[in-house]
Amino acid sequence: MSTRHAAASPAPSRTWERPLSGLRAELEREAADTAPRWAWRILPRGACVAVQVLDDTLKVRIARPAAPAGADLRRWEQELATFRRELCLDGWEEENDPEGRGVAVVFSCRAALICRYCRTRKLSENGVLFGGEACDHCALHQQLGRTP
Ligand SMILES: [Zn+2]
Repeated sequence: MSTRHAAASPAPSRTWERPLSGLRAELEREAADTAPRWAWRILPRGACVAVQVLDDTLKVRIARPAAPAGADLRRWEQELATFRRELCLDGWEEENDPEGRGVAVVFSCRAALICRYCRTRKLSENGVLFGGEACDHCALHQQLGRTP
């Protein structure tokens, strides 16, 4: 095996093979502790997920090294929908961020709009119930008298 091949493979610590739902929290923790405030992982099917934690904004960038075309375009859309759901990015601002021959989407959300209970989901649009500090999920649990 050539050294060139070895260099092209992602280091083991940069791959993510655990459930997607735990990825964002892990990357947020790691990004908060690093100087550029970015942390990233490569997923088994080749997508790269990066998180940037700024003082007032959270960013999640999802990228693939090659831009999808034709039938792959639909697969990419489905993949983004999965990331949106599993990484709790519903309601975040979304913009394309193409890079080289690849494709990337950056999701961003102001830190002040993140639920103070779960620290993950965006505040409910109609969440005045709890001082506008809860996401729909946590507001519902509080309404039912349970801790979120
Ligand atoms: Zn919440």
